[in-house]
Amino acid sequence: MNLPEISIVIPLYNEQDSIAPLYQELTAALSNLKKSYEVIVIDDGSTDLSFGRLCEIHEADERWKIVQFRRNYGQTAGFSVGFNLAAGAIVITIDADLQNNPQDILRLLAKIEEGYDIVSGWRVNRQEAFFSRRLPSMLANRLISKVSGVELHDYGCTLKAYRSEIIKNIQIYGELHRFIPAVASSLGIRTTEIPVDDRMRRFGKSKYGIWRTFRVILDIILVRFLFIYGTRPIQVFGGLGLLMGTVGFILGMMLIYVKLVMGEQIGDRPLLLLAILLIILGVQMVSIGLIGEIVIRIYQEAQSRPRYMTREQLGFED
Ligand code: UDP
Ligand code: MG
Repeated sequence: MNLPEISIVIPLYNEQDSIAPLYQELTAALSNLKKSYEVIVIDDGSTDLSFGRLCEIHEADERWKIVQFRRNYGQTAGFSVGFNLAAGAIVITIDADLQNNPQDILRLLAKIEEGYDIVSGWRVNRQEAFFSRRLPSMLANRLISKVSGVELHDYGCTLKAYRSEIIKNIQIYGELHRFIPAVASSLGIRTTEIPVDDRMRRFGKSKYGIWRTFRVILDIILVRFLFIYGTRPIQVFGGLGLLMGTVGFILGMMLIYVKLVMGEQIGDRPLLLLAILLIILGVQMVSIGLIGEIVIRIYQEAQSRPRYMTREQLGFED
């Protein structure tokens, strides 16, 4: 069996009218490319005619492969399953609603060939409403850049190209697909971005409202946590614990001095309570740090994913 060189992964939810034009545009764009490809569409529990139409395309063109979810799990779940099934050495993600322009795929691939591991689309002139869409997205992008240290302008753009070994080694859930470049950067991955088209939605309507902003903010906190604290809990909790314990200890010594040397009562002083509290908290924090270290080790062992990714290995058998 011949493996395709490129896999296109498309999560799709209730986009019945976009499917035919999507097929045409993608096929036209990819025919300019002298490479074999597969298109994996994940029907994310659509309740309209989407699945039937996808099946028709699959019948006519075996490069199109369809997965149907039992219910609506969300776009990230679609990516996750698509990434697992993708056979190509390069994986492209694109929206099903035609807001991304399939013609841009060629330029993404050219960048990958330059040696980048992830090439992200940057919707330079976005077509959507300012207050409900572009403003929250702008703020989120700034925040994600700050938190992750990866400077991208547009994390939310689905149109991206990845080397397959990158996405095969990253777990995504929740709304985390937009953080793949950020998470990947901790593995030493070369990321870049290129301007891409953004078009108005022609059919159907957007599946997201302003609530997505909150989900993304929670995920930012999670990513930050996993990044910095995820690998060394003892450093964070232990550090806090030592600080509290030390302050508590000093206060306690002061109180002992007041009691024994100055001969004053200390039983009714709030400071005594504070000293005791700080010492107990300090001990607990250090313990949480230690337990955290154990949990992290179990977690990492249980994940059979490599913690260290090599870019190249010369002179080894495959
Ligand atoms: N989508 C999906 N599952 C969902 C919501 C959306 O697979 O639960 C797909 C949808 O069909 C589209 C893409 O994700 O291909 C982006 O969704 P949408 O266009 O609604 O988001 P927006 O462009 O408004 O940010
Ligand atoms: Mg859209």
